[in-house]
Amino acid sequence: MLHVDLDQFIAAVEVDRHPELRGKPVVVGGDGDPAKRGVVSTASYEAREFGVHSGQPLRTAAKRCPDCVFLPVDADAYNAVSARIMAVLRETGKPVEVLGWDEAFLGVDTEDPEGFARGLAADVKAATRLDCSVGIGDNKLQAKIATGFGKPAGVFRLTSATWFDVLGDRPPDVIWGIGAKTTAKLAGLGITTVRGLAGADPDRLAREFGPTTGPWLVLLGRGRGETEVDPTPYVARSHGREVTFQQNLVDWAEVRAEVTRLARQVASELSERTVARVVVKVRYAPFITVTHGVALTGTIETETIETAALAALEAFDPGRPVRLLGVRAEFASVVDESSVVDESSVVDESSVVDESTVPDESTVPDETG
Ligand SMILES: [Mg+2]
Repeated sequence: MLHVDLDQFIAAVEVDRHPELRGKPVVVGGDGDPAKRGVVSTASYEAREFGVHSGQPLRTAAKRCPDCVFLPVDADAYNAVSARIMAVLRETGKPVEVLGWDEAFLGVDTEDPEGFARGLAADVKAATRLDCSVGIGDNKLQAKIATGFGKPAGVFRLTSATWFDVLGDRPPDVIWGIGAKTTAKLAGLGITTVRGLAGADPDRLAREFGPTTGPWLVLLGRGRGETEVDPTPYVARSHGREVTFQQNLVDWAEVRAEVTRLARQVASELSERTVARVVVKVRYAPFITVTHGVALTGTIETETIETAALAALEAFDPGRPVRLLGVRAEFASVVDESSVVDESSVVDESSVVDESTVPDESTVPDETG
């Protein structure tokens, strides 16, 4: 099993077409003006040295790194390079499971995985001029984690045989799928290492984390993971647009007008895929984000999407100043198209996220590698 991940993909694409920026701290986000509102989509390694990271407001990034070069997001350019990368991976004839713009699993079973990995990285470089790192593992979990150890531009192999040698003494958040919150909760139980997690009592963790998650965490600690590569073509699950206002909107009529405009834009950009849910995102000033969604029977009608967006907006508090609005159409997947809720029974799923602690869910994927 191989996992391929481009090194600081977005920043690398930008540096490739602006060679004078090589080695400089580069931040890509919003429309590239740090005096304006917007968030960091990606930061080069040099910029990360200054404490700049994805999801941070551009202004904060500019404070931490006044000499950073700020560039606007150019999704079309990244999509074009992404397509070239995936074409190279598919040319191997091995099953490819795309994880995002710049990463994928490859089902490779060979005597010399390091040699295969180095050849693959060379092919990607020849096609795109960009560096990638390749992780090798007995399963997806191991391969994905291995890639991180290979960065930048390296190959690393992590197997069941070397799992504890490499990771045993590290905190659990080194494992893909285990975040800071879970790690903190585990620490509260006296579990501070991967080895400790692997040896933990699944029943005890089931009581703390739930009957599914608890035992699953123990398996992660032991390095277990999926071994099947799913080569089904990657399909976006949603399409959305959002806008950050340079001055907060306080007039709710303006908010409604913006939501209408965004809904129409999103609807105009849909192809044939039917929409099962319309989600509106509101970021209140200073930086509190709330989303509400409305389920649909599956439609591509602009008017229905617009009506749904305005219905979702009804769930928000009109008395608060708004700094960002977003409208997202979530597609009916092939499997749950039949189980989509009737429009008359409006589903309202809300989630409140304090984004001072959680990275922004921006339209550009969070790119950490
Ligand atoms: Mg990457």
